[in-house]
Amino acid sequence: MARRRGDNPVYALLPVELDGFDELAELALDIRWSWDHGTDELWRELDPVLWELTRNPWVVLQTVARDRLQQVLADPGFRRRVDGFVKNGRRELAGTSWFRHRHGDGPLGTVAYFSMEFMLSEALPIYSGGLGNVAGDQLKAASDLGVPVIGIGLLYQQGYFRQAIDSSGMQQALFPYNDPGQLPITPLREPNGEWLRLELRLPGYSVWLRAWQVTIGRVRLYLLDSNDPANLPAHRGITSELYGGGAELRLMQELVLGIGGWRLLRALGINPEVCHLNEGHAAFAVLERARSFMKETGQPFEVALAVIRAGNLFTTHTPVPAGFDRFSPALIEQYLGTYARERLGIPFAELLALGRVRADDPAEPFNMACLAIRGSGAVNGVSRLHGAVSRRIFTPLFPRWPVAEVPVGHVTNGIHVPTWHSPAADALWTDVCGKERWLQATESLEETMRPISDAAFWQLRATARTALVELIRSRQVRQLASTGAAVAEIDAARNLFDANILTLGFARRFATYKRPNLLLHDPERLLRLLTDPQRPVQLVVAGKAHPADRAGQEMIRQWVEFVRRPEARRRVVFLSDYDMFLTQRLVQGVDVWLNTPRRPWEACGTSGMKVLANGGLNLSELDGWWAEAYCPEVGWALGDGREHGDDPAWDAAEAEELYRLLEEEVVPAFYRRDRDGIPTDWVARVRESIARLTPQFSANRTVREYTDRYYLPAAAEYRRRAADGGAAGAAQVDWRRALERDWAKLRFGELQITTTDGEHEFTLQVYLDGLAPEGVTVELYADGVDGGAPERLAMTRGPQLVGAANGYLYAIRLPAARPAADYTPRVVPALPGVAVPLEVGAVCWQR
Ligand SMILES: *Cc1c(COP(=O)(O)O)cnc(C)c1O
Repeated sequence: MARRRGDNPVYALLPVELDGFDELAELALDIRWSWDHGTDELWRELDPVLWELTRNPWVVLQTVARDRLQQVLADPGFRRRVDGFVKNGRRELAGTSWFRHRHGDGPLGTVAYFSMEFMLSEALPIYSGGLGNVAGDQLKAASDLGVPVIGIGLLYQQGYFRQAIDSSGMQQALFPYNDPGQLPITPLREPNGEWLRLELRLPGYSVWLRAWQVTIGRVRLYLLDSNDPANLPAHRGITSELYGGGAELRLMQELVLGIGGWRLLRALGINPEVCHLNEGHAAFAVLERARSFMKETGQPFEVALAVIRAGNLFTTHTPVPAGFDRFSPALIEQYLGTYARERLGIPFAELLALGRVRADDPAEPFNMACLAIRGSGAVNGVSRLHGAVSRRIFTPLFPRWPVAEVPVGHVTNGIHVPTWHSPAADALWTDVCGKERWLQATESLEETMRPISDAAFWQLRATARTALVELIRSRQVRQLASTGAAVAEIDAARNLFDANILTLGFARRFATYKRPNLLLHDPERLLRLLTDPQRPVQLVVAGKAHPADRAGQEMIRQWVEFVRRPEARRRVVFLSDYDMFLTQRLVQGVDVWLNTPRRPWEACGTSGMKVLANGGLNLSELDGWWAEAYCPEVGWALGDGREHGDDPAWDAAEAEELYRLLEEEVVPAFYRRDRDGIPTDWVARVRESIARLTPQFSANRTVREYTDRYYLPAAAEYRRRAADGGAAGAAQVDWRRALERDWAKLRFGELQITTTDGEHEFTLQVYLDGLAPEGVTVELYADGVDGGAPERLAMTRGPQLVGAANGYLYAIRLPAARPAADYTPRVVPALPGVAVPLEVGAVCWQR
């Protein structure tokens, strides 16, 4: 890699010939620096000012004068440190890992993780919010654990917008150009050194895609962009902006991501067993994966899909049906009509049907979530509650199935703890649990953390709060000065906040459902809370609204207006330009993190998890992750655990509850101190929250759960179906065809139920007509009790019925714990390895 860097125009100006430069570049281009801060000292030494402002080693390395580089590299001490970091880094990556140790001989070679956005560092602004956060933190945890994941995403010329607040309190959205030369990425090269470019053929023309590589420890992320000089001007801008433009641009982006992304992997000779679709945006990967299987084996599309879907996992993040991407059939025809007919060998209507609930409803748009479900072997939501919400949303795809059996599971998201904890928290954790605590299973951390003393926890909080107050002051000074504020106002900002005061934080995207102005419901009451002379409170707020979201921007303006009230000024700030860096500082410093979404619209939420390792506490709506994390020992809950839509009366009631919680519970607990000045009740909560919740809501747990529960079974099943040119896939298609042909002729005869000695006995006559008895299961079904899992009890096939060609008596005995009337017999398809009802939705109920 190092030798080729010099040939590339992007790097032509770099002093690659300097001895030691390659080693520095290796360090600067591995995003591990975003959580492993060992090398920070090198970049600070090279250029302290630029380092503080950008926190981007690659920018520092490129900007620093050649003389300066030469000078530091000539210092043997500096060189030794550089070489030490490189050597240690390589050794860590080559060493054994959780995955290699546990699953090294398993069926899983590669997982391709597709996502529209990745939040890895503010130095690589290709993210917007929670979805990117989940993707970025999972790649980092995969690196820690050695799970063989490759990320696939897009490189946007304009990524996440930057925010300024003007004098009227309005958000200004700024789009600095993402200069690829300044981003910590490298062109992805073919073995012969040529820059890898892909041709995406559309009707009448081609789009050329360039490929880039991001290094995240053991993991690689490949990014595609269309800003290639060979493209028509309009197509150079396909990857110009994340979530910008209209439907057509979004469709083109998703074609680049899904089809281009899969093609990129194949061009690199990579054939992943598992393809993880992070949200429906990436669902076109299903089609291209099937196409490449067709090409390799000569199988038709139907068989290819049956084979490859076993290796696809779809993670949905959306709690409302309107959240899915939908496209008009005409637009899909324009871009994919020829692809369907010529590449997939299927009529366009068949492709359209994959993206619809009802195949031939001309009014129905093409829904990416439908395609993802029809193209996957497993589907999951991102918290327990969101799993249940998703089952409800997707019921139309599984007619006649109870909602509890709609095939959507859940894996609750988690955050990459080392990215979000403070240096002081890191030190405390390292002291007790060791440096390598996030590199293996983490279930034992809870008991290891609990014995830490009250004083140590409280000292951690004090250190963190002091650092946050300093950050708030310097950000506010810079922010005010840049907008031309008066000198007196800037001076006052140098004394904002107080390191001994209870500090609340609220920072997130300003979207209406998150109710970022719930606290402003009664501004006078909030003001009284903040300025209480005995037990004052301070509050830091930050967040961006989508540039097209007027309502979100208005809520920002309301906050800015409140913050500018003279009485409020010392106790509350609105910090502009919310991004990863600011989140890090906020979650490290605040005592309480507030979250006020309307249930159930926060599918999971992650920012509250980021305070856990730092000893911050959550006060949050019982939604998303908090609905499963909350108990009174770890924090405070808002809401009644039910859904109330956007009812203004309910919002008012919850605002009331929020004030009451703060006034009567949070504030008193913080200021009630023992003889040594420690708030013992508070610290008890900190202890429970830190110890119990940090491991549970870490990406470490999430990635291990994905690996054990989804990736490994998916890889095994994909391999089984793909063997012998897809023989099992072809057999499955035959079985399904026969099933579809004969299902309607299935018929029930007599049902007899007798109850004796505390047992029910069910006997049932079933006439299967043409169906093979081995291809179906006859079972009893009963709804779960009190929201529990439904009961499914397979009946045993007995003798042939006299005179019937393919009729049998099925029977089962079960304890009569529930009334017999709770159970309904039914017939469902059954073939080993095949997911029912996800892959075959037939079901025949006896009544
Ligand atoms: C963590 C984070 C998010 C996601 O937070 P939610 O609680 O899920 O809303 C969004 N943006 C940034 C910059 C973050 O750091």
